[in-house]
Amino acid sequence: MGISGFDERFARERRARLQAERLLAQRSEELYSANKKLAEHAHALSHTVIAQREENAALIGRSTRTQAALEVATEKAVIAERRLWDALSAVEDGFAIFDRDWRLAVANPAWLGAFDGVADVAPGASYEAILRIAVDEGLIDLQGEDADDWVDRMIARWEGASITQTDIRLFNGVYVRLIDKRTPQGDMVSLAVDITDTIRRARALEHARDRAEAATRAKSTFLANMSHEIRTPMNGVVAMAGLLRDTALSDEQRLYAETIQNSGTALLTIINDILDYSKIDAGKMLLHLESFDLRHLIDEIFRLMRPGLEGKDLRLVLDYDMFLPARMVGDPGRVRQILTNLIGNAVKFTEAGHVTVRVIGVPDAAQPETLPVRIVVEDTGIGIAPEMQAHIFGEFNQVEAQATRRFDGTGLGLAITRQLVALMGGEIWLTSALGQGSSFGLSLPFGRDPAVAADPAPPEEPPIAAKRGLHVLAAEDNKTNQLVFRAMLKGVDLSLDLVENGALALARYHEGRPDLILTDISMPEMDGMALARAIRAHEVQMGLPPVPIIAMTAHAMESDRDRILAAGIDACLTKPLDKTLLHDMIRRYAPPDCGVIAGLKAANA
Ligand code: ADP
Repeated sequence: MGISGFDERFARERRARLQAERLLAQRSEELYSANKKLAEHAHALSHTVIAQREENAALIGRSTRTQAALEVATEKAVIAERRLWDALSAVEDGFAIFDRDWRLAVANPAWLGAFDGVADVAPGASYEAILRIAVDEGLIDLQGEDADDWVDRMIARWEGASITQTDIRLFNGVYVRLIDKRTPQGDMVSLAVDITDTIRRARALEHARDRAEAATRAKSTFLANMSHEIRTPMNGVVAMAGLLRDTALSDEQRLYAETIQNSGTALLTIINDILDYSKIDAGKMLLHLESFDLRHLIDEIFRLMRPGLEGKDLRLVLDYDMFLPARMVGDPGRVRQILTNLIGNAVKFTEAGHVTVRVIGVPDAAQPETLPVRIVVEDTGIGIAPEMQAHIFGEFNQVEAQATRRFDGTGLGLAITRQLVALMGGEIWLTSALGQGSSFGLSLPFGRDPAVAADPAPPEEPPIAAKRGLHVLAAEDNKTNQLVFRAMLKGVDLSLDLVENGALALARYHEGRPDLILTDISMPEMDGMALARAIRAHEVQMGLPPVPIIAMTAHAMESDRDRILAAGIDACLTKPLDKTLLHDMIRRYAPPDCGVIAGLKAANA
């Protein structure tokens, strides 16, 4: 091989070496960059590891705290449950929870205690089974109810949408109120409360109330009896004094007779006030509705007031609504009482000027059968101070103090008036200015009298027909009353048959039928009601027309009036008898063929 061959080989090796060196350099570079990447990656990784480690540490911390909190909470829950249960165990009321299938879930000792240790009454027992055990063991006092009915009733009670509470009585007399509530989850929470004390208290109160009512009744009866006892002799005193005045007397004697009559009348007014007040108080006042003439009634009151006007410059004026019918339906006796009191007060407290009664109809188109009436009693008297106006409707209230009193009165008048107005469903009000006068307003819901249009004014006197004598039979046991009665009918053209009791009156009735019977109520042998019943029975049996029977009674109680009318009596006259009223009554009930009876006092119109 020549030189050239060597060179060539050398050059080739050199090239190979250079190539290898280049490759080496390239690989080193690659290695370097790979190393660098690796280092960077390791760096990042170590950061992540650190972060993760920190996070782990935090998590561990949190979990430890949670664990501790959980332990505390569990402990609290246990304490709360124990407290709740202790409380439920301590209360004397029974408490139980039933699940949605009506099986007992839990019950406190008081609830279970009611079952007296029956083992079957335990959690898991059904409601119905428990009810059956309760009746079978005789734990419930069924008070006459059938056991099955009771169980059915108790089950039906739970089936309703809202469960009403119910009271049961246990065998030992304990009363239990069952209060049951359904929870939104469907459980039934049942509370059994011992209400024995409450029931006992209620019973004691009822007892006390019954005793108080019995006492009130006794008081009313006592007052009724007392009224009879006081009014009967007073009747004699007042009526005899009246009759005495009609005889020839010296001026002095006349004064004495008048004083006796006035004092007696005043005493009777007081007795009547007290009676009325206690009657209303006892809820015994009843209204007797009938057709009456309001205008006529006010005229009558005015007439009675006339003596009170003597010596005063005072006029009584009636301003009656011209469109208001005179007849209406109400209780005329009580309306008279109300208006007598208001007009009487107005006259009493007014020296000069006028007392005007205005009557206005207030038609109500919606209620054509009613006749609302407004009455205002207005005076120009002393007036009532504003601070007293609210008080005078109270009991025993008078504006003037006892020491400075110038006017008589019990102070009950307006209290009775207010109560009577309320009883009628009306209202009363007052406007007054001291020194100028007072005005008492009333609204009274009267009824319309259906007969008004058909028969506007019945004739006052029956037409004169073939006249015959009027035969009156009267029964009265009290000698004074007999005397008064006879005297009041003196000069009247009638034949009077006056006997001492109902039995005698009945015998006379059978001897010759009278035209009219007037009878006392309380009499020995046969009282007035028994007499009326016997006569009515006879009339029915024989097909006879009824004879008018009028009672003369000293009983002021309405309950008596009802009994009297129920016995077949047509009307009542209250003692002390008033001559005019007695004559009016005879005129009203005398048969038409007796014609005008001479000697009767002028009609009360
Ligand atoms: P009395 O029976 O005493 O009159 P009332 O209850 O009727 O009782 O009246 C109570 C009081 O109201 C009267 O005593 C009087 O002071 C006062 N009073 C009532 N009406 C009038 C009136 N028209 N004018 C002034 N005062 C009156």
